[in-house]
Amino acid sequence: PHMNEISTINSPITALQLRDNLHYLHPFTDYAELHAEGSRIQDHAEGVYIWDTDGRRIIDGLAGLGCVTLGYGRKELAEVAARQMQKLSYSQSFFKTSNEPAIQLAEKLVELTPKGLNHVFFTNSGSEANETCLKLVHRYWNLAGKPDKRVIIARAQAYHGSTIATTSLSGNPVFYTSGGGMPISGIERIEAPYWYLNGAGETPEEFGLTAARWLEDKILELGAENVAAFFAEPFQGAGGAILPPDTYWPEIQRICRKYDVLLVIDEVVSGFGRTGKWFGCETFGIEAPDLMAIAKGITSSYFPMSATMVSDRIASLLIEKGGEFYHGFTNSGHPVGAAVALENIRIMEREQVVENAAELGKHFGEHVASLADHPLVGNVRSCGLFAGIQLVADKDKRVLFDEALRVGDHCSTEALHRGLALRAIGDTMTLMPPLIITRGQIDEVFAMTRDALDATARAFKAR
Ligand code: PMP
Repeated sequence: PHMNEISTINSPITALQLRDNLHYLHPFTDYAELHAEGSRIQDHAEGVYIWDTDGRRIIDGLAGLGCVTLGYGRKELAEVAARQMQKLSYSQSFFKTSNEPAIQLAEKLVELTPKGLNHVFFTNSGSEANETCLKLVHRYWNLAGKPDKRVIIARAQAYHGSTIATTSLSGNPVFYTSGGGMPISGIERIEAPYWYLNGAGETPEEFGLTAARWLEDKILELGAENVAAFFAEPFQGAGGAILPPDTYWPEIQRICRKYDVLLVIDEVVSGFGRTGKWFGCETFGIEAPDLMAIAKGITSSYFPMSATMVSDRIASLLIEKGGEFYHGFTNSGHPVGAAVALENIRIMEREQVVENAAELGKHFGEHVASLADHPLVGNVRSCGLFAGIQLVADKDKRVLFDEALRVGDHCSTEALHRGLALRAIGDTMTLMPPLIITRGQIDEVFAMTRDALDATARAFKAR
């Protein structure tokens, strides 16, 4: 009876859902499944709430895809976009041309991001920002006269995007099953600093050092003279909500410096307040990245925009040596995106959104910790307003569920049924609400989460 109750969420298929099926291919979707069930169609949204076309109100525990930092329906952002569209709706930036919003945004990003990142290359998505990092790494070593430094080291369970190169940087083998020679050559991989599953017998602090030294081992195996860069997210979001122990990042930096390997930090999810600081770099003690990709929260996704922050070390070589950098996008430095980003950042500063997120993060973290006693929950992890709640078949032995059972998907459906959007990454339930969420709404999110966990436990015990 319980499963039937759930399956009624999506049935019967409406006319709009049928039209959706007919022509619209969604990203990261099993089309057979979607065609059978139909999509949830979102109609309007305000703050942390989304209303579907069937009139149901959903609390967005995911801030879209971790991007709607300021929540939905901010009029100031719409007004700024409308004004800029009327003043200068587009400006190309290829042929020695610029625009004031982009210039101002570059200045602002330099001010906000870690020391030494004093230059900005504008792009339109997280993937493009990471792709730009990758091209800059190769351009840098070529100009520096060390073209053999070509290999990139990335991590298992990384997520860096969806183009061929950024898919290849990402560390989930299922992503390569489309074929086409993915992962591309020149990418090597080390394991993630995933203490719960990889750290048997060590304290998190000991394990942080062990996991960092996997990078050193890999560099030595390949020869430092061949290694160009290490690519990593401060914490791993889409790959399974993996938070590194405190000892990890300082050791990684020591190793990168020792072997002259560029450090590329992907702040696409961790940037703009998610961890309770402006950037994950600050939270995890990452002092001097050579390149940094930012996206999502830069505009709270009111406009597609992203950027690659470039260190003096790299930019000064590009400027000094000259020669064209053959890279860029039609919409790089879009004046409307830049105007929206500036207003988004202004609001974040005025309303102290990051400071509030840090404060709220404590309350959020207590709720996350309180789920550890749930019979289905093997491990809980949180940082700022980001959480991973890992479901396991056997808590004591750390045994995971058989993937085919899709326990995580079941749990997210249960949550949706109760009016909460959260996400299952395998069997790890992740939450990353808009940073403007209130304490009361956080309480609401966790009441629904616990309910969904209870229902999931009942369903799987019954089998
Ligand atoms: N890097 C990280 C860490 C991400 O989480 C994502 C998106 N979830 C990306 C890159 C890719 O961004 P986009 O989807 O905008 O290309």
